Amino acid sequence: IIKNKGDTAWAFYDGAVRDKLLHEKEIESQMEKALAEGEFIAYYQPKYSAKEQKLIGAEALVRWRRSDGVIVPPYQFVPLFERNGFINKVDRYMFGLVCRQQMSWLKQGLAPVPISVNMSRMCLYDPHIVDEYISILEESGLSAAYVKLELTESAFFENISIMNGVIEALHKAGIKVLMDDFGTGYSSMMMLKNVAIDVLKLDKSFVDDIGDDRSEKIISNIIYLAHSLQVEVTAEGVETAAQFEFLKSVGCDYIQGYYFGKPQPAEDFAALLQKEIYSGSDMDADTKG
Ligand code: C2E
Ligand code: MG
Ligand code: MG
Ligand code: MG
Repeated sequence: IIKNKGDTAWAFYDGAVRDKLLHEKEIESQMEKALAEGEFIAYYQPKYSAKEQKLIGAEALVRWRRSDGVIVPPYQFVPLFERNGFINKVDRYMFGLVCRQQMSWLKQGLAPVPISVNMSRMCLYDPHIVDEYISILEESGLSAAYVKLELTESAFFENISIMNGVIEALHKAGIKVLMDDFGTGYSSMMMLKNVAIDVLKLDKSFVDDIGDDRSEKIISNIIYLAHSLQVEVTAEGVETAAQFEFLKSVGCDYIQGYYFGKPQPAEDFAALLQKEIYSGSDMDADTKG
């Protein structure tokens, strides 16, 4: 009986691994064509100032819109693309897409807010990455003030000197840099000490723990520390009024999360930009979901 149990477990495990490999092979055979045909699109998640609840920016998040209309979320392909190297192409594409989208919103008379684009830590191994990003920006005609880059905290652990070189070159071109997922690594303080970032994104795992006394003390001190280093703080994954109120009370600068808005297609975000012009940014947080 024991032997049978073992066999069953093994057969199950084996099957699961095979399915995953097949699935990955399938994705890999489709990814180049998907990129060429514009199947990678951006969803935009708004960011608000904590004090006045004004729309101050957005984050562009990749989605794969398959030809059958199915929208595939990043966790289903970004980790694979980081392993096979395709992420660099997708990230560059997303950056260009956002630059062109911003130009078109400007031309339509909307007042765009800066939009941050995610850049994988894999970019560090590409020595031409910064030059390429700068030429993408120049080709689009957009001012550097309208785009920013988010680099996940773990990227900073890989090689601080390369990272500082990348950040310095981006700053020279006028592009600001955010440190994503702050606080999830083992030496977050070292990062703050050694890297000249503009904004720190407090990871959702901290926000989730608001209500707990120790966690609240850590958050308020991270914000205090960041501010003393002239670094602004965005909290990510804010879902409730209580989380928002706490973050506002301890001086968090910006808020991103379902409480204020989910990642949304370009047309919906454009409507939000339009609304901001007319409402004079006077929104009532209590009515937001
Ligand atoms: P991230 O950059 O930390 O982005 C934040 C993620 O949290 C997004 O998930 C967003 O939809 C989600 N989120 C925002 N507010 C809330 C909230 O209130 N509650 C909850 N539960 N979730 C919230 P998404 O869009 O699925 O992206 C996941 C991750 O995939 C991103 O994490 C980023 O690491 C990666 N990613 C997304 N787009 C790109 C891209 O263009 N390039 C690269 N390299 N990575 C990307
Ligand atoms: Mg991000
Ligand atoms: Mg993040
Ligand atoms: Mg995160």
